Amino acid sequence: MTFDYDLFVIGGGSGGVRAARIASAEGGAKVALAEESRMGGTCVIRGCVPKKLMVFASEYPEMMADAQAYGWDVQAGPLDWPKFRGKLEAELDRLEAAYRNTLKNAGVTIFDHRAVVVDPHRVRLADGQEFSVKHILIATGGRPFVPEFPGSDLAITSNEIFHLQTLPKRALIVGGGYIASEFACILNGLGVEVKQYYRGAQILRGFDDEARGQVANQMAANGISIHCGTAIERLTKVAGGICAIATDGTEAEFDVVLYATGRNPNVAGLGLEALGVKIGRKGEIVVDEWSQTSVPSIYAVGDVTDRINLTPVAIREGHAFADTVFRGVPTKADHELVASAVFTQPELGSIGLSEEAARDAGPVEIYATSFRPMRSLFAGRQDKVLMKLVVCADTRRVLGCHIVGPNAGEMIQLAAIAVKMGATKEDFDRTVAVHPTMSEELVTMRKPVRTF
Ligand code: FAD
Repeated sequence: MTFDYDLFVIGGGSGGVRAARIASAEGGAKVALAEESRMGGTCVIRGCVPKKLMVFASEYPEMMADAQAYGWDVQAGPLDWPKFRGKLEAELDRLEAAYRNTLKNAGVTIFDHRAVVVDPHRVRLADGQEFSVKHILIATGGRPFVPEFPGSDLAITSNEIFHLQTLPKRALIVGGGYIASEFACILNGLGVEVKQYYRGAQILRGFDDEARGQVANQMAANGISIHCGTAIERLTKVAGGICAIATDGTEAEFDVVLYATGRNPNVAGLGLEALGVKIGRKGEIVVDEWSQTSVPSIYAVGDVTDRINLTPVAIREGHAFADTVFRGVPTKADHELVASAVFTQPELGSIGLSEEAARDAGPVEIYATSFRPMRSLFAGRQDKVLMKLVVCADTRRVLGCHIVGPNAGEMIQLAAIAVKMGATKEDFDRTVAVHPTMSEELVTMRKPVRTF
């Protein structure tokens, strides 16, 4: 049987673009990709990239204050938000065009439409076109979710934060995950008065407790008012903005309320359930280790499968799928020991087991040191850095590494190579320090601070 396409990818984000490119350019497949919004997906258009540029923008006031402390005669004026936003939009346009070109150069046919699945070998576009296809890859990602409560329509999500016409004076961030915490820091750095409400006991659930505590303490010291154990009961529109009535009985007014309490997989209306594609409890597409769904011709990668919702993971899953199905190189995406960074101020870089998780797994030694780094100490700041290793007492393997401090994201990327290779504590110790750096502490911690 001949098909219009060997592969039809639905979704032009991190996972979909990679899979389409590899299947076409390296696998020799006839590939089409449908994208209903902007090419590049969440990461490029409304996630990692614009967020990181906002992180950079928000770091300048502190750098300026440090520069003064170092003797420079500089003064930070207010941020010209429209100027920054204009540059940000231009950069996203540039990246979107680059993604498009990459696909075109790889021989992929692009359809700028929403696509749905009609049957295991057929897709339909919003303009009515239908194609027969040998394989379908669902790479539709996820979207922010605001729970329903009185006034919930007054809240915005991370999708809208990049498009604000003016910078608010007062913002409420609801949520305790990495996206909520990062935006709390970004807005705080940009000069916005920020409160963060989180239902749980401490922000950044899932990360090492000591690291979370250090980030939260520093965020509070930087001026963010963090209220844990606090949720929103209702939002009402008032003359001065939005009034948030919290479960702890407090009422406060804000110009912007940003909800970042979770994201849902994008499966609604795709037509999958009717075909027997298994959907999980959180709405995610259930796949096996080859990213294959319960319908053999349909695969899914990225956030829509809710495995590890990060760009590099979606890319790896997309690549592994293309290698397996179109290059004759069976490859499973590796979800073990995936490092990640939280771009709060201070940053948090993390790989492997937290102290708490490791303690449950067997005897462990904890090596940790917290200190004031040279650069900010000289500038008179009290910021602290945390370097922490979680070590298996039996095998001596480093099971986890957690770093809080400037450029922790950059540092953890490098430490991750050693941890992924199975380095032992003694391998770290044998490595001569690079001096003077913050990360040298990772190879100079001699005695465990705790054992379990
Ligand atoms: P997406 O990139 O979401 O792409 C899915 C695409 O499918 C979208 O473009 C969508 O328009 C399209 N689509 C959906 N349905 C259809 C349809 N029916 N027809 C056609 N097209 C459709 N990850 C990191 O690794 N580091 C970070 O620092 C980071 N920061 C983030 C910050 C924010 C604010 C957010 C929201 C996310 C962040 N992420 C980060 C997560 C990262 O963006 C996602 O994990 C990644 O984009 C997932 O890629 P994907 O291919 O699964 O889906």
